Amino acid sequence: MKARGWEVIERIRGGQTLVFDGGYGTMLFAAGLLNGACPELWNDTHADVVRGIHQGYFDAGSDIVETNTFGGTRLKLNEYQLGDRTRELNEKGARLARAAAPAGRFVAGSIGPTSRLPQDYALDEGVTDEEYEATFREQATALSEGGVDLFAVETMMFPQEATAAIRACRAVADLPVMATMFFQYEEMHDRDRTMWGESAADVATNLLSAGADVVGMNCGRGPDRAIVIIRDMRKVTDAPLIAYPNAGLPVTTGDTVTYELGPEAMAREYPALLDAGCNIVGACCGSNPEHIRLISELVRRRKK
Ligand SMILES: [Zn+2]
Repeated sequence: MKARGWEVIERIRGGQTLVFDGGYGTMLFAAGLLNGACPELWNDTHADVVRGIHQGYFDAGSDIVETNTFGGTRLKLNEYQLGDRTRELNEKGARLARAAAPAGRFVAGSIGPTSRLPQDYALDEGVTDEEYEATFREQATALSEGGVDLFAVETMMFPQEATAAIRACRAVADLPVMATMFFQYEEMHDRDRTMWGESAADVATNLLSAGADVVGMNCGRGPDRAIVIIRDMRKVTDAPLIAYPNAGLPVTTGDTVTYELGPEAMAREYPALLDAGCNIVGACCGSNPEHIRLISELVRRRKK
């Protein structure tokens, strides 16, 4: 029997647009997570808060919600001396999202960067492809044991790290893999590039050939650039595309950080994002369930 997650791909192939979820960081900080504390630890110590955030996004209209495991690789958890709890924190994270998921909705296991540089870039002690793949395999295994429907490899900066994560997901479970990278807008050249110079077309091609089923962008600047990035990816592939940009740029006042785009201003950009050929839309840093509610209403209005 095929895993339930493959239905996501079938629905897209059938012409549907799906809604992803919004930011977690802002919600966790609002609930009392301290700067410098480990967000994934809350899957154990503050399970109700994490489950409540998932619930809020499903209630707002998300078809797919992701787990609170963005920094859940052993390499990243080691920064908090929590590497030994890798399996437990990922499995718990998956179960919390699963528990909040209504029938016919999906849970994506979030897999973010390790924060460790690849060998080619690091001045010393860079991470090899094999080390990346091993740390992602461990995380992906725990997420799949906790019951995720698909994987969301996200906010990746380096091609080596992104493709190792995709290969790791592929190797441990027969579940769809979504993979998105972080783009910077280079004002001087009026173009979007990953931190290491890849174009949107390069990224789509590379991630798909590494085995991803859905590719796209997340985080970064905002929906205005997401539209351009998705349009560029659509020129080189007919594969399912996903975008979940930030709610604009962060604005720092004193020690509080807010984001440029409120729910209405953000949602206003999404018709163009859908026209660009995007199949799954959501939002990243600075967004909350209200952003997702408006985006979801818009997607459902266009579905006729
Ligand atoms: Zn973000």
